[in-house]
Amino acid sequence: MVVIMEMGATEPQIEAVIENLNARGFDVHRSSGVNQTVLGAIGVKPEFDPRIIRVLDGVADVQRVTEAYKFASRSWKKEPSVYDINGIAVGGNEFILMAGPCSVENEEQIYATAAHVAAHGASFLRGGAFKPRTSPYSFQGLGEEGLKLLRAAADRHGLNVITEVTEVGRVDLVHQYTDIFQVGARNMQNFDLLKELGRSDKPVFLKRGLSATINEWLMAAEYVLSQGNLRVILCERGIRTFETATRNTFDLSAVPVVKKKSHLPIFADPSHATGIRDKVIPMARAAVAAGADGIIVEVHPEPDAALSDGPQSLFFDQFEKLARQIHDIAGAIGRTMKQPTYA
Ligand code: PEP
Ligand code: MN
Repeated sequence: MVVIMEMGATEPQIEAVIENLNARGFDVHRSSGVNQTVLGAIGVKPEFDPRIIRVLDGVADVQRVTEAYKFASRSWKKEPSVYDINGIAVGGNEFILMAGPCSVENEEQIYATAAHVAAHGASFLRGGAFKPRTSPYSFQGLGEEGLKLLRAAADRHGLNVITEVTEVGRVDLVHQYTDIFQVGARNMQNFDLLKELGRSDKPVFLKRGLSATINEWLMAAEYVLSQGNLRVILCERGIRTFETATRNTFDLSAVPVVKKKSHLPIFADPSHATGIRDKVIPMARAAVAAGADGIIVEVHPEPDAALSDGPQSLFFDQFEKLARQIHDIAGAIGRTMKQPTYA
């Protein structure tokens, strides 16, 4: 931690700050120029709140040089994390495609989608059974029946399952059906849920909160990691800004930023990030080029009749075309991808 004293801070003020830091167990290295003093405090603990020093008399600013998260950081683990999920390496050189409807609606819908996405390069079938909807009047999901249909459709077509768990009390239930727990944007700071998932043996796909900074997002990941579950996958799904032309603003620069700060795999969700079908396709392509380890994208056999997120769900032919383009873009940046079949 670096403590920058105000110009002209008095000697007693400087000494009081040094004493305070020493009393908290820090080693302090002082460097003083003609008018200004900077203190280097060695020994910052992750839980230390720098504002304790920031409010002392004569202090101009305090900056952390180590991150408040540990297990999520690159300094803790230099190499990118790769997870073997039923034979699929997530976070490795292979670009991973997760696809499916926003919500599981019925047998016909989920089986048709599973067949289609499996044939065109997807490794995971997505679909919500418990839906955190903005309106209580919107479709809330089929619950356990949805989980059963999702699992059966995925198994039929050799896919893995990713689905959202919305609360602590449902972790055991969702665990029976899923291969990856999705934590939705609205739950990114549901700390009890994160801790519970941190004690699970299945990977956690942690979506970025609607208004979360990258630091807050990594701290949320730390909740899972610090409980012992070291398999967290991050997902950028758009953040809230002043822009209204898209549902959210796709912060694609989060991908290289996270790659630098963390060893965790990072995915992108162009569906929720843009909210409009014709924007999903170019932004999905951009996510591959930006270095995401995979994307999760919404696809529906009849988007116009979808019970949730129809306007951002791709038609089958659009998904097919996108998968081929992604395959080629991945190849251009030296990554592999499961071969989509050509119609
Ligand atoms: C979803 O994946 O359908 C979903 C609700 O996403 P998010 O939590 O990112 O809004
Ligand atoms: Mn959705």
